[in-house]
Amino acid sequence: MKKNTIYPEWDAPYFTGIATMKIYCFPWCKGQPKLENTIQFKSRAEAEQKGYRPCKNCCSGLPHGSWEDNKQEVTLFVPKEFSFAENLKYLSNAPNECLFHIKDKRVYKAIPIEQETPVVEISADYENVMTIRFLGGTTPSRKWVRAAIARYVRDWFDLDTDLVPFYDLAKTDILLQKAVDEFHGLRNVGIPDLFEAICWGIIGQQINLTFAYTLKRRLVENFGRHVECKGERYWIFPSPHNIAALTVEDLAVLRMTVKKCEYLIGVAQLMVEGKLTKERLLDAGDYKKAEKMLTKIRGIGPWTANYVLMRCLRIPSAFPIDDVGLHNAIKYLRGMENKPTKEEILQLSATWTNWESYATFYLWRSLY
Ligand SMILES: [Zn+2]
Repeated sequence: MKKNTIYPEWDAPYFTGIATMKIYCFPWCKGQPKLENTIQFKSRAEAEQKGYRPCKNCCSGLPHGSWEDNKQEVTLFVPKEFSFAENLKYLSNAPNECLFHIKDKRVYKAIPIEQETPVVEISADYENVMTIRFLGGTTPSRKWVRAAIARYVRDWFDLDTDLVPFYDLAKTDILLQKAVDEFHGLRNVGIPDLFEAICWGIIGQQINLTFAYTLKRRLVENFGRHVECKGERYWIFPSPHNIAALTVEDLAVLRMTVKKCEYLIGVAQLMVEGKLTKERLLDAGDYKKAEKMLTKIRGIGPWTANYVLMRCLRIPSAFPIDDVGLHNAIKYLRGMENKPTKEEILQLSATWTNWESYATFYLWRSLY
């Protein structure tokens, strides 16, 4: 059958069908409704025979031919417009980062997938590939968990965006031409986890980056969990469940403003209730509607909303136009005496349509 030959790597122990929508999901899809509205299939083939379509959240996440599963190691095939070294330089600029670490040109991180928490080493010693190696006996025994890890890392490094059109438009752009040359192959390294992305956006409001990293570390070390692997400790960001039940007093150890504590708890509660999910934002229809869904939430203004849409949902036209870093980059690159006005930014970015988020990312990069 066509589908089995195209997607042999997509085996999962079962698939969940959503009767009302006639779609089926992998067990690890986060957009699934309550159990009573679902039926189970033994295979994709069975689901498709019954007229079910694959869910776009979980089934289309890993392009065919984009990875190879070798059990202890997973190989990701990367596009030509990708430089591991450039992305590593970007990641190295977060000296107090607590959710991954870098050593000898390798990135180390624990990535939780359902009940498993494999620890991975990500490297790129060979051309056109990135290697994910599972450390210290944490190799997931199930193939779909390894697939989910591959999907996470592809998403983290934004490997599935074709940068050619962006580079074409940037060639003649007065703000971007130097940056795309200098940082060729840099990707919008993101924050795949929605709760983490929103928390990071809220934590960072009105404080400098160094202090933001300190606050994040306190949050993670007080309310997250960790795994030990080969003598190293790997921290995992708290889940919405961890934070939703807390009070502002519980969060006092962070020494963060009361308002920010309230915002984090409020967002966690919305996520626990299922009112705020990545899928809901992606299904909003368009960028403006997704932005509105976010800005309705207490603590999320236009900057935070666009930051999240850019770093987590990878909406190409997300544009944190009020961003101080963006203003500084423009001021510096244009040799301006004062920061640009909103009108000036709109004028300078007029040709960036659908690449606003990448343009912002590259301009941020040109600041250090
Ligand atoms: Zn799904």
